[in-house]
Amino acid sequence: MLSLFFRCTHCTHHLQLQDFSTFPLCRLCFSYLLPAPPLCTSCAQPHCLLHPQKKCLRPWIKRYGIVSYQAKYLILESHFSLFKHWKYQGGFFLTQRLFKAHPSFNPIFQNVQAQAIFFIPPLSPLSRRFHHYPGETLGKWISQMTQLPLMQDLKILPSKKFYYKRNLQIKIAILVDLFLTTGNLIEQAALALHQAGVEEIHVFCLGYFQNSFSAESQD
Ligand SMILES: [Zn+2]
Ligand SMILES: [Zn+2]
Repeated sequence: MLSLFFRCTHCTHHLQLQDFSTFPLCRLCFSYLLPAPPLCTSCAQPHCLLHPQKKCLRPWIKRYGIVSYQAKYLILESHFSLFKHWKYQGGFFLTQRLFKAHPSFNPIFQNVQAQAIFFIPPLSPLSRRFHHYPGETLGKWISQMTQLPLMQDLKILPSKKFYYKRNLQIKIAILVDLFLTTGNLIEQAALALHQAGVEEIHVFCLGYFQNSFSAESQD
């Protein structure tokens, strides 16, 4: 048995030589990296785009200046542990692997005249001192890709409301977060940026959860 000394970062199985192209993941864990579908610009769900007239099925959602939603990966519940692993443990090679562009991945904000990147700050300021901070890492990656500055001043209160302390000269911004679930936190952050003067907000998330909104739409 010819196996490398390396183990899959996620499931810890020994990597085989043929896993070289999926390093630091084994081929099974690598198969969890599914590209996300295009998302409705109003409600961040893929279903509206399948509607014959591309009509939004949840048009009552507040928008706060959000003009587009996009995610890189579609996350199925059974695959979430891989993304959680990265969220809590990071790791240089896994970060590189997750951020590596999927061949079909062409971020829509590449064609947007955005002026800056904002990221959702950690709920606890302490987490930043002790752990790898994935939201900011994601923001830095987008910042490198777009050559736009990464802004640091978006703050979150214990009530999960956001504030931005000064007026922004920025009219078009990209707001990044790790996972698009209910979208509530992102909307709150967008609201704060909108109140600070940002007119157009493009949301980018690393992962979109399938059935994200199903629990919410039952009520
Ligand atoms: Zn694995
Ligand atoms: Zn929609």
